[in-house]
Amino acid sequence: TIYNFGSINLDHLYQLDHFVRPGETMASNSYQCLLGGKGANQSVALAKAGARVKHVGAIHHSDQAIIKQLESLGVDTDLINQIDVPTGHAIIQLNKEAENSIILYQGANHALTEEQVDQVLSQATAGDWVLLQNETNLIEYTMRKAQEHGVKVAFNPAPMDAELTKKVLGFVDLLIVNEVEAMDLIGTSDIDSTIAAFPKAYPELAVLMTLGKAGVCYFSGKESDGKKSTGEEKLFVKAFSVKAVDTTAAGDTFIGFCLASLMNGDDIAQSITRACAASAICVTRLGAASSIPTQDEVTAFLAN
Ligand code: ADP
Repeated sequence: TIYNFGSINLDHLYQLDHFVRPGETMASNSYQCLLGGKGANQSVALAKAGARVKHVGAIHHSDQAIIKQLESLGVDTDLINQIDVPTGHAIIQLNKEAENSIILYQGANHALTEEQVDQVLSQATAGDWVLLQNETNLIEYTMRKAQEHGVKVAFNPAPMDAELTKKVLGFVDLLIVNEVEAMDLIGTSDIDSTIAAFPKAYPELAVLMTLGKAGVCYFSGKESDGKKSTGEEKLFVKAFSVKAVDTTAAGDTFIGFCLASLMNGDDIAQSITRACAASAICVTRLGAASSIPTQDEVTAFLAN
């Protein structure tokens, strides 16, 4: 089982000619309300990839549609608290140039309590994983407790907070970052020097670095099962060449499929390849959760 301590957002999307200006009231002809949040997207990807995923988080008790949607996609929602705090949400303006302007309200995503973490992790057994992004509270506490219970920790520090991330790396078995997050963590503005610097700066860490349409880089002083190995492991996997229309949720799809594959016993190279195929399909479709492919679609893509 993978316990995903993750955000759940409602994304309120308005397509406009231009962003609302100070003092202006503007009517919008287009409105969509979509399930989002990196946490929820990654739970959906994990479930679609065939993993047993329990989402840990909170929403406002009136938002039952979220529970129904996650359940219908195969995510276990028993550990989602339904509380009297507004559900996390984003108000997104999209202009004609496809730029966005976003107000984010964390709401229930920051309502996790230490008691809840303790209670969740008391159910976990060896072989389980904990997954976290950086959109919820109690990150360090959750990781420390996971380690105490012998549960492995995967961390996707998005949005990046370099100070927090450096502080918790000792608890992390697998770090997953994109280019921008990796550069922020190392403190350089050049991706090649970041790739070179990473294994030197963090020789103990297993790191998956996603590089957009270039592919994925993996390095580790440890074996992918978490055991310390004698030699260093380094891999580069090219992305599949596809016509991208919307890269939203590419990273979330990658993470879900890669972890599901690792938990299924595949080796790291196989897991990365499967995850690259899944995220390549994702970028050919519009949307977030709805653009994440199924296991069968990924298998068919790889067979071609
Ligand atoms: P994020 O969405 O977190 O910024 P990336 O942009 O690095 O993450 O994308 C994650 C993965 O999705 C990449 O490693 C790659 O496998 C796949 N991907 C992203 N963009 C493309 C693309 N244009 N073509 C093919 N695959 C892509």
